[in-house]
Amino acid sequence: MNNSPLSGPAPAIATPRPTPAVTVRNVRRIYGDEANPVHALDDVSLNLNRREFTAIMGPSGSGKSTLMNVIAGLDDVTSGQITVGDTPITGLTDTARTLLRRHHIGFVFQSFNLVPTLTADENIRLPFVLAGRTIDADTQAWIAHLVGSLGLRDRLDHLPSELSGGQQQRVAIARALATRPTIILADEPTGALDTRTSREVLSLLTTAAREYGQGIAMVTHDPVAASYADRILVLADGRVVGEYGHLDPRQISDLLINLEVKA
Ligand code: ADP
Ligand code: MG
Repeated sequence: MNNSPLSGPAPAIATPRPTPAVTVRNVRRIYGDEANPVHALDDVSLNLNRREFTAIMGPSGSGKSTLMNVIAGLDDVTSGQITVGDTPITGLTDTARTLLRRHHIGFVFQSFNLVPTLTADENIRLPFVLAGRTIDADTQAWIAHLVGSLGLRDRLDHLPSELSGGQQQRVAIARALATRPTIILADEPTGALDTRTSREVLSLLTTAAREYGQGIAMVTHDPVAASYADRILVLADGRVVGEYGHLDPRQISDLLINLEVKA
């Protein structure tokens, strides 16, 4: 028997509602010209929550990367609204969006995107340098904790070229987590990694959401990767066509196959 005061059903009033880190409302992104429009995002509405690890799936060309880019303010929406934290980013000037991005968004790309001439340590600290933020004692301790738990302590003086792919991706994740952003956007973060290293990276993202309360959105086409997530959103032709809680890899494969059959 578990007699801890935390066991048993929680009173309804204490059930925390997920707090949106990002809200996307009726967003369209149309590329091309009027004669040949490409509806990369076609009336998309969704939330990405704090403390939650969301996987974003869908066939190639379904709008996954466009979604990441418009949330990050790297690309403009054609219409609709996006807020990051409490700030509406649609309508901000480029400079204001850059500042918002530095403070609220962490990126992890398939290709790691580390600065080749900077050491692992310098790469991890780069977001603070770019934002002109000093690293206080608390943040220093947080970075040391991340570096330790990512197994990077004896790699800090290495350049990216002196690190394995898995180590480079762990540096990129440490860099993304270091500033405690409102949301981490990861576009196919395990796409270039072997199976074992992928699992390590995925466990780490799971831990970041569960233990550090980090909101994470990860684009992936891999059912095993998506099975680490708390929630799965499926896009097709620029629209959200499915939303699920946690699923196992087999269930995810089945739903993707069904989607292809329908298409
Ligand atoms: P995914 O990441 O799901 O593979 P994308 O978001 O990259 O899909 O692309 C969605 C659609 O928008 C595709 O049809 C793609 O060709 C188109 N697209 C994406 N970026 C551009 C762009 N910069 N210019 C024109 N079309 C684009
Ligand atoms: Mg993509």
